Amino acid sequence: MRRPVVKEEIVSFMRERQQQNTGFLAELEAFAKQENIPIIPHETVAYFRLLMQTLQPKNILEIGTAIGFSALLMADNAPNAHITTIDRNPEMIAFAKENFAKYDNRQQITLLEGDAAEVLGELEGSYDFVFMDSAKSKYIIFLPEILKRMPVGGVLVLDDIFQGGDVAKPILEVRRGQRTIYRGLQRLFDATLDNHNLTASLVPLGDGLLILRKNKEDVILPEN
Ligand code: SAM
Repeated sequence: MRRPVVKEEIVSFMRERQQQNTGFLAELEAFAKQENIPIIPHETVAYFRLLMQTLQPKNILEIGTAIGFSALLMADNAPNAHITTIDRNPEMIAFAKENFAKYDNRQQITLLEGDAAEVLGELEGSYDFVFMDSAKSKYIIFLPEILKRMPVGGVLVLDDIFQGGDVAKPILEVRRGQRTIYRGLQRLFDATLDNHNLTASLVPLGDGLLILRKNKEDVILPEN
């Protein structure tokens, strides 16, 4: 996170004082840092441990596998869950395959290769926990398809939604190259934050999480 949305000393406190990863998760975390591959930061790791252990989801969907770190973290903390994770980047897919072969001891994870825009339409299962950690401008595009695949009571977590603080600014103060993401995120907020078919919460961990609970079978969203 280049522009922390929470005071830096609090971010350091959260990263240093919360239980550290051990074993292969510590190795993968160090590898990602060394190779500059974005994975969820430590404060989000601690939160995910709690979420997984508390919710014990049965069928998880993740969009954005990268090296497989968050999928393996979820598998470790929700031992009865099956995790379907999607990525389109061949280099990341190769890393993830290697890591799942070594560390997915309970065979909990299925990796689907391809763009989520296509893969989502081919899914058949129902997912009680969904983690979206891919291109932020696409969250609003993927949202209807994902909600269709969730039961009432299912939880959807979307990562990196504060855009380093830009989302709280007027668009003219946002760098031109960032405006597509900005518009996509504003459409996402408009569709979800005050939608009574959903319960929404913004959580300032990392670059921000948006957490949604599906409250109704047919969630009405504004036209895209
Ligand atoms: N969730 C991972 C973790 O914390 O260990 C990190 C995911 S990384 C931030 C984002 C990943 O999303 C990248 O590997 C990228 O290739 C993938 N991605 C981005 N847009 C995508 C799309 N439309 N379909 C599939 N994968 C996508």
